[in-house]
Amino acid sequence: MPLATGGCLVLPEGAARHVQVHRLQPGDHIALFQGESDSEFDAVIEQMGRQSVQVRVLEHRAVSREAAVAVTVMLGMPANDRMDDLVEKATELGAVAIAPLQAERSVLRLSGERAERRQAHWQAVAVAACSQCGRNRVPHIAAVSAFADGLARAGAGARWVLSLAPDAVPLAEAVAQAQPLSQAVLLSGPEGGLSATEEALARQHGFSPVSLGPRVLRADTAPLAALALINLSAAT
Ligand code: SAH
Repeated sequence: MPLATGGCLVLPEGAARHVQVHRLQPGDHIALFQGESDSEFDAVIEQMGRQSVQVRVLEHRAVSREAAVAVTVMLGMPANDRMDDLVEKATELGAVAIAPLQAERSVLRLSGERAERRQAHWQAVAVAACSQCGRNRVPHIAAVSAFADGLARAGAGARWVLSLAPDAVPLAEAVAQAQPLSQAVLLSGPEGGLSATEEALARQHGFSPVSLGPRVLRADTAPLAALALINLSAAT
């Protein structure tokens, strides 16, 4: 249902839970978003039942809460619980899309209906993370894809593979060289790393190897550190 100024609305379950968890009360204001445009509505809580929350929609605000660089994270799928955390935190750090890839050493193997259910679950995690951090555009969680297919579909912008190889350039240096930078695709391996074949394929697809320093970061830490480096150094 499209949001409109003046309307009354019973919040969907996730948003209602958010209101309860934050102990908001009638009279408190919240921002409502639909997730696809840089747009949100101010709203005031009118009534609260045990589970339902009714709000009145007030003025529309055109406001972007997006990061300076639109970063897509493609990652060799890590184990399940780590993926949840990764989606949550990558959303907070401004990722515009997250594409899980079935890598040779991915611990989690997903296909068919199970893969679709996980995709929907991760998309819901992204929505909840947006509510929590006040972001009004929800990152897109792509369907789980085979590693090579994912690379073939990688979008525009700078392409970097987070790599432990000796020729990897410090990410900060690569970012500085790529200015002005508006879009980037970050490829990161699963717990067991990318295989030599996968890393070679990534390079063939134009992903240049970048380093995050001399320690081996976990599969869920590496892309988050990279996102922070790319987006927070320019944040105002
Ligand atoms: N056991 C694996 C480590 C994988 S760490 C191995 O030795 O290859 C998971 C992923 O995080 C890696 O595939 C890489 O993409 C990224 N990563 C971890 N630490 C990194 C670092 N210091 N620099 C760049 N990428 C890193």
